[in-house]
Amino acid sequence: MEEQIIQHLPKIELHCHLDGSVRPHILERLAQEQGNPLPYSSAELASKLTAPEDCESLLEYLERFDIVLPYLQTAEAIELISYDLIEQVAEENVAYIEVRFAPLLFAHQGLTINQIVEAVIAGLKRGEEVFGVKSNALLCGMRHHTNSDNKAVVEATKNYLNNGVVGFDIAGDEAQFPADLYTDLITLAKKYAIPLTLHAGECGCPQNVLTSIKLGATRVGHGIAIAKDDAILAECKERGTVIEMCPTSNFQTKAVTKLEDYPFKKFMDAGLNICINTDNRTVSNTTLTKEYTKLHKWYNIDYRCMEQLNHNAVNGAFISDNEKEQLHTLLKTAYYDYK
Ligand SMILES: [Zn+2]
Repeated sequence: MEEQIIQHLPKIELHCHLDGSVRPHILERLAQEQGNPLPYSSAELASKLTAPEDCESLLEYLERFDIVLPYLQTAEAIELISYDLIEQVAEENVAYIEVRFAPLLFAHQGLTINQIVEAVIAGLKRGEEVFGVKSNALLCGMRHHTNSDNKAVVEATKNYLNNGVVGFDIAGDEAQFPADLYTDLITLAKKYAIPLTLHAGECGCPQNVLTSIKLGATRVGHGIAIAKDDAILAECKERGTVIEMCPTSNFQTKAVTKLEDYPFKKFMDAGLNICINTDNRTVSNTTLTKEYTKLHKWYNIDYRCMEQLNHNAVNGAFISDNEKEQLHTLLKTAYYDYK
């Protein structure tokens, strides 16, 4: 496989955080416009926004977001970073992306959840008009937020469902806040027929994956820990759960530490529906092109495998059957010459 061809082939992404994908020059522009310049040179900023190689945990990884969030408190800023994310993914031929964010992290200076969601949708739509990339948003509750705050996010998801928003997620520190704390919240989302993708199994606990799928998640963010539990892995296979793997991020957050422990091959061989994602394009300093190039280096995957991983992503996407069919056809046509 060649990086240039990987970049050129169409790809699908289901797990990408908006606030973890703000390019340094966009943040500098926001800081200038908001009259609150960053105290770093461009080079310093780029390194501060990216998780270090020796990052010790998910918690340390999440600290990267602290620099960005103060600048994402206006509708203009949120619209711009949403548009810019579409510009980024267009550069590597992403055909469809689901962009996730926690609205309440952008509400520190008075924006309402509705204003925030509408600003993201406006940016994504403008991106589609200019670059032709289709997208939808996923709203995230945060593990450390109160139940009533997270409920407000579920209500917003219901209100915008199929109008730019297609699902709900819970993100944040999984080690301290296991999945079963959110049973009521997830049950409410299910009552509203909201599609669910939940972060689970990123911090060593396979039980969180089982809890999440039993509560109705059809997709799981990361899911790495099920490699340690054959019964839960079998349950995911049985249900056809889509596992959103994020290789670079999984090493940075110490979901795994050694390549031989990374369960990509194990999940593939077990017939799990896995797909490949960036998680955070800036914080993980990555793109889908880099992720697939890595998989080729590590496991010698070929274009046929890459195509399959993208079909898996289409199957998991929260879009209509008709839209899925169009994406499957697009993939089949584009990859045909590379088999
Ligand atoms: Zn994530």
